[in-house]
Formats: sequence, C-alpha cells, structure tokens
Amino acid sequence: NNDDEVGQLKDRRTIIIAGPSGVGKSTLIKMLLTKHPKLLERKVSHTTRAPREGEVDGQHYNFITKEKHSMMRDADEFLEYNNYNGNDYGTSRKLVEGIIARGKIPVMEMEHHGIQQTRDNGFVARFIFIEPKSLAELESRVRKRGDLSDTEIEGRLKIAKDEIEQSKLEGAYDHIFVNDNLDETFEKLDAYLFEAKEHSKED
Ligand code: 5GP
Repeated sequence: NNDDEVGQLKDRRTIIIAGPSGVGKSTLIKMLLTKHPKLLERKVSHTTRAPREGEVDGQHYNFITKEKHSMMRDADEFLEYNNYNGNDYGTSRKLVEGIIARGKIPVMEMEHHGIQQTRDNGFVARFIFIEPKSLAELESRVRKRGDLSDTEIEGRLKIAKDEIEQSKLEGAYDHIFVNDNLDETFEKLDAYLFEAKEHSKED
C-alpha cells in the first residue's frame, strides 16, 4: 500500500471524475481508493434511479425517491444536482463536508452538468475527464456489460457524445485521460494526482 503520502500531500483539493457512462470511472475510482485508503474517501451520490443488480443502498448510491430529491434540492442540501437520462442525481453537501472533516480528500464521480454547477458554485476541485478511445468502443463496452436496456443504452450514448464534445471546451477540465487500457490509465491518473510533475493537457 502506498499511503505514505498522507500528511505530505500538499494538494488536498477534492477530486472529481467525469466521463461518459461505461468509460470506467467507477473502476478507476475503486482502484484509487484501494491504493490510497487513508487519504481518499469516495462520496456516495444520491439518485432516484432504481438499484442495479448488486448495488447496495448507502454504498454504491443513496437510493432516494423523487420527492426526497426535490425536498433536498429545495432545502439547498445539494452541492450540485442534475437529471441524467430520466433520473435525478445529486451530491450532498453534508457528505462532502463530512469527508473533509475526517481529514480525507473527497473523490467523486458526476456527469458533465454537475461539473459545470460545481465550478459555478466556486467549489475548488480537480476536474478530470475520462474519455473513451472512440464512441464505437464505448458502445460495445456498454452493450457487453449487459445490465442496461436498449433504450437506456441509446440515451446514454447520446449523452456521451455531448459530454465528449463539452469536455474539449477551453477550461472545462483540468486534465483529460483517454481510457484505452484500464491499468495504464490508472497509472497515469495516479501519477497525475500524486506526483508533482508537469503534464501535458492530454495523455
Ligand atoms: P449511473 O446511473 O450509471 O450510475 O450514473 C449515470 C451518470 O450520473 C454517470 O455519468 C455518473 O457519473 C453520474 N452521477 C453519479 N453521481 C452523480 C452525482 O452525484 N451528481 C451528478 N451530477 N452526476 C452523478
């Protein structure tokens, strides 16, 4: 385990990872947390979508009703929130503050509109985008995963195309990684986050 950077790491900014559905964000976050368990903590999002097979409430997501989501929204409990392909998602301020209060660096995943809101709110973070090698490759990956309906897949691929376009806009992200090979992308991401080096805009 590589946890000796606890206390040494100067950059304590929250790490936010975006990128199209199916690109491997969750897996990369899992790998980061496995390598740096004392330093990082994953923020659990709130969502109104139904749990998928194997998803545990409070662990993968906080699964909530639409009513609860709008109550939380009206009470300004979300740092950001958005509707993605028919379901609502959001980041609880309280959960993020809790992670920071425990002395850890929050790691969170969100879609592109959430990124924009988070930036607009003046929240300080490192914004990272994971890009697929191509849309065709993303599509085959999502289809192979086999846990989504065709309609759901179509909707997500359409959003993916927009998200990739948006990611190219000046200043949208601090860094973009093309996920060609998961282990290699992880190595690059980990080095980017934890080694004080100069990096090119795209790896
Ligand atoms: P999924 O339904 O596949 O778990 O997530 C759909 C999309 O919502 C993904 O792009 C995921 O990163 C994003 N997402 C997950 N949690 C949040 C959140 O708290 N806020 C926002 N804006 N997006 C989220």
